[in-house]
Order: sequence, then C-alpha cells, then structure tokens
Amino acid sequence: MNYFAEAYQESVECVAAETAALMNAAASQPCVAESIARADQVRWGGIEDLRRLRAMQPHLPQLPDDTARTVYLRVREAERRWASPSLAGPAYGDGVAAYDDHIGIARGNDAVLLSADHATDPVRRATGRREAADHGTAGLAVVLAQDGLVDAMVPLGRQTGNANVTIDSPYKDRLRTELRDASAPRLGFVSLHGKVPGHVTGLLETTEIHAFLGLGRYKPTDTTLEAAERIRDAARQDLGLRIEVANTTPFLLFEPDPNWQPGMGIRDKAATIKYDPATGRPKLNQPEPKLAALGDGAISNTTTNVVNEFIQADPAYPRIPILQVEMSRSLRLTPHTQWNRDPKAMAAGVYLGYRLAGLVAEVCYGLQKPGKL
Ligand SMILES: [Zn+2]
Repeated sequence: MNYFAEAYQESVECVAAETAALMNAAASQPCVAESIARADQVRWGGIEDLRRLRAMQPHLPQLPDDTARTVYLRVREAERRWASPSLAGPAYGDGVAAYDDHIGIARGNDAVLLSADHATDPVRRATGRREAADHGTAGLAVVLAQDGLVDAMVPLGRQTGNANVTIDSPYKDRLRTELRDASAPRLGFVSLHGKVPGHVTGLLETTEIHAFLGLGRYKPTDTTLEAAERIRDAARQDLGLRIEVANTTPFLLFEPDPNWQPGMGIRDKAATIKYDPATGRPKLNQPEPKLAALGDGAISNTTTNVVNEFIQADPAYPRIPILQVEMSRSLRLTPHTQWNRDPKAMAAGVYLGYRLAGLVAEVCYGLQKPGKL
C-alpha cells in the first residue's frame, strides 16, 4: 500500500520507456553509448569522493577540511561506543549490547526523535540472518544528539528481530514510550537509514540520489510534505546534495560487479542495468518502492508507520513531520573490512551526511517555530 501508488506507477512506465529508448539508441550509435559511459564515470567519481562533485558546483562554499575532519573523528568515536567497538563489519552483530535487543538513547534535544533503526545488524528479511547494519548511522545520530539537535535512539546490538519488519518488536514499544513520555510533544520524527550508492532515474544523470525520503504508507500530512520539500531544496542549495521522495521516484537497478570482493572499493555495482525477464524492459524499483517506509503488503511494520499510527490515534498530538531518511553509503562512515575508501574522501562524505541530517532536524523545528530556520 502506497498513498502515491498511481503516481508512482506512471513514473515507472515513463522511466522504463525512456531508458529502453536510450539503450536502443546506444546499441546503434556509439556516441550515445559513450555518453552513458561518461555519466557513469562522473557519477561514481562523485560517490568515491564527494569533493569531486563539489568541484563541479562552484556556487557552493569550499568544504571546511578541518571541520569535516573533526566531525568525521567524532562520528568514528561515537560509532565505536554505540555500535562497533572495532569499526569492523562483523562487530556490528553483537555491537556493544549487554543483552538481547538492548537499546540506547542519547539525549540531546527532545524536540526531534531520531531513530537509527538499523545501526547494528538487524535480522534481514531477505535472508533471515542477522547482518548488514546501516553502517555509520549510530555515530551520526549520537553526534547530532551531542550537538543538541536530537534525541537519538540506537539499537546497540544482539538484535533478535528487525525494527522495521518485526511486528511488536521491543524497539517499537520503546519508540511509543519515547513519544508518549517526552516532556512535550515531539516536533519531528526521523527514522535514519543507510542505502546503497548510485541510485538514478536515468542513465545520463551524473549525480547519484544522495538520500531518499520515505513518507510511509499513509497519506502524509501537509507538515510532512512541506518538510520533504524544504529538505530537498535546502540540501540542493546549501549542500549540493540530491534528495528525492522514494514514494514517487522510481530508480534503475544495476547488476552487481562480479569482480568485487569485500575490502575492495566503494563501488560494488557494474554499469549494466537489470532487465525484467517477464517484460524485457529495464527493471526498476517495483512494483512498490522499497525505500519509502511502506511496510510489507498489509502490514504497516516500519517505524515511520508506527509513529504515524501513534500520532493519528491521539488527536491532541501535533501533526509533526514524520520521515524516513535513507542516506547513501557515500555520506556515511563505512567499515574498512567491507569497502576500502580514502579516509579524506570518507571524511568529506561523513561531514556532508552530518550536515544533511542536521538540516532535517532543523527543518522539523522550523515548521513548528517560524523564524528558527
Ligand atoms: Zn535500514
């Protein structure tokens, strides 16, 4: 169920047709194939090192290298303490938990509740195994709390389920408690996640979608829609980042790079797009968008939906922005055991991720308190 299902389906048809036409043209005209290859190169260059993307955006101020490094080191330290003591991939399973489903809260500002739902390895729906944390989200959430921007909620490890899949998980109970027992109604809820890099809606695009906003399965309130629009505009203007709403934006899927192994570079996808064997057309994120916080079929099991239901049930609770934010790997701290990245490039990415998440929190305040933005 997706409130935007019809609009999404129309976009899917359009993107699939455009891409199929481009691929046909590339098959007979070498210059078209070259343009596609060039866009792929530029796009992945910006994913490997966001400073390259920044260099193509002369209207933006220079990245403050010292500040970026300080933020990066703080995120690393917080990630060690709250998610992976060694920062290596396998350590995200047990994390720093003292018992199963241990949850930590970093208090910083009770106006915005930011939940790093998959900060340590959750039990993944696809495999039934505990694996594949959204790396870097614990450290980022905690640093934002230290800076007085949010209250950060973090699963500390030893997760027996998945905050966005398991119905009535302890995590959801704690979320409801955090909403109910705050000294005043919260002004925003943000479910922070990581996503793979390289999402685009067309093969000639030279910039990846740096983050998707997921609005959940219900009709979003005007406040949530306005927040999404402000985040998208401010991220583009102030940070040079590309943000889209997942509920309405289909993206192409790429084949894995058969030569990639853990410990190699950040790029683990080939330049080849996937095709739908049933139709022979380019395969998109369908039939329903995956990064939109929709839940599974009839089940509204994402934290975004749970918060929506909690607030809908209480007419006195303000209609606050409720958003899932899926940040690209390029903007997050990632384990060296998985992707070998240049530390300065990663610092630039982590800093921009920090700025983006801070902007999301500020937009939530701004919608409730005019003049704060
Ligand atoms: Zn996630």
